[in-house]
Amino acid sequence: MLLGLAVVYFLAGKLGLSLAFVNRSVTSVWPPSGISLAAILLLGYRVWPGIFLGAFAVNITTAGSVATCLGIATGNTLEAVLGAWLVSRFASGLDAFRKPRDIFKFAALAGGLSTAVCAAIGVISLAATGYADWTAFGQTWLTWWLGDGIGIILVAPALILWASDRRVQWKPPKAVEGVLLLSLLLLVSSVVFGRWSQGRNYPLEFLCTPVLLWAAFRFGPRDTALMILILSGVAIRGTLAGLGPFVRSSPNTSLLLLQLYTGTVALVALSVAAIVAERRRAELHLRETERRLSRYNADLEHFAYAASHDLQEPLRNITLFTQLMVEQHGKQLGREADTFMNHIVGGVERMNAIIEGLLRYTRLSGSDVTCFEPVSMNDVLSRAQKNLGAAIADSKAQVFYDGLPIVTGDREQLVRLLQNLIGNAIKYRSQAAPLISVAARRNDQDWIFSVSDNGIGIDPKYGERVFGLFERLHGSHTSGVGIGLAISKQIVELHRGRIWVESQPGIGSTFKFTIPAGTEQSFVV
Ligand code: ADP
Repeated sequence: MLLGLAVVYFLAGKLGLSLAFVNRSVTSVWPPSGISLAAILLLGYRVWPGIFLGAFAVNITTAGSVATCLGIATGNTLEAVLGAWLVSRFASGLDAFRKPRDIFKFAALAGGLSTAVCAAIGVISLAATGYADWTAFGQTWLTWWLGDGIGIILVAPALILWASDRRVQWKPPKAVEGVLLLSLLLLVSSVVFGRWSQGRNYPLEFLCTPVLLWAAFRFGPRDTALMILILSGVAIRGTLAGLGPFVRSSPNTSLLLLQLYTGTVALVALSVAAIVAERRRAELHLRETERRLSRYNADLEHFAYAASHDLQEPLRNITLFTQLMVEQHGKQLGREADTFMNHIVGGVERMNAIIEGLLRYTRLSGSDVTCFEPVSMNDVLSRAQKNLGAAIADSKAQVFYDGLPIVTGDREQLVRLLQNLIGNAIKYRSQAAPLISVAARRNDQDWIFSVSDNGIGIDPKYGERVFGLFERLHGSHTSGVGIGLAISKQIVELHRGRIWVESQPGIGSTFKFTIPAGTEQSFVV
């Protein structure tokens, strides 16, 4: 493996050095830096000898003494090791191309920092052994640094992303799209950097951006990285042949300008690809969570329904047999038996109320009410009052109301809603006879209904809690199981509204809920 890496490094290095202009050992196109960084990230730090060997071989067969080449090879190896360490430590390692933030960190740390160190060691090695001029240090270092840095930005992502996922499982339409994309890239890159541009050299490089963005949006980071490599290959070839927008009088300047261009476009395209891929992953995750949640919900509803249903039967038996026992054996059991039986029957009745409430609650949460109809809230209020007839009469409650509107909703549920709220206003009354007023006003999108009472009120800090299942604030002296407001909340939410309470203890409470004002004739009757 080490030898294989050394050979690949050597060949890529020879290719890069064939484009060396400022010094035989210094080039602005240096793919080995990307290869060596990817090798360490993918295979581990132990492959450094392969890099060292490859770097030494490529230089000793080009120019320089053994000492020069040992110096350069040390710099190249250090670049890969330092780059890999920085990327692993600060830019999520092999996952660096999943988030734009990590991509930029990768470019700055591996492409900018570790290469600066390597370029310095390399140029010092050359100059110290007489193979470069100290006076040209700046320009040589810059060419080396940019060549290595852009080599990393262009080559490493493609290698890492393809090594991490080699599957190509495209359905036919996707494959056709892939072929189209590749053809367009080749066409555009040859228009910009090919023979067509001869003598014109128009600044048409921007034409490449939409093609890379197509890859980023539709194919993801891995394929985008490959497209960038292909574009870079075509562009370097053209620029060297004196074609395209980056051609200047010196080939080194032309190549440097081109490399800067491809490096920048690569960063943008890879970042877009990462954002799109991240969004796609998030969408998938959301869909999966949604599916799991609705399955759990359905299971839970089924469970609650079945359990509540099955509990009713034993409860009926308890009542029945307790009554039978008192009837048939009351005398032997003594006087206390009656009291005990009353406790048992009372408990069973309460249990029944809870179960019925639960059944209603689960039935509601399972329902997806789609057949809403225009409902007159005046009628709804009349029916709720009728259902509460006995409680209203016993408590001498008075219910006032303004003309209420017509809304779109489920009539039965809306009756239950008002019945719950008015029923509570009566149940939680103060010493005075209940005065209850029901009103509605409209804002831009909603009808806001209010049911106010002059009852005992609710401490504002419990304003949210009372809508929870089995939550009771004033339990001991009043009947009830703490389900009414939970059901009311469910009904309002099924109508895409919200419910809340405004209250002052000792003064009274106002329960408010909204119902979207639709296109129904929302006149006040
Ligand atoms: P229940 O009436 O069966 O206890 P609800 O869910 O209808 O259950 O109400 C929950 C709790 O909210 C009640 O126990 C009571 O403490 C409080 N509550 C509800 N309505 C009013 C009201 N109009 N005035 C004062 N307290 C109220």
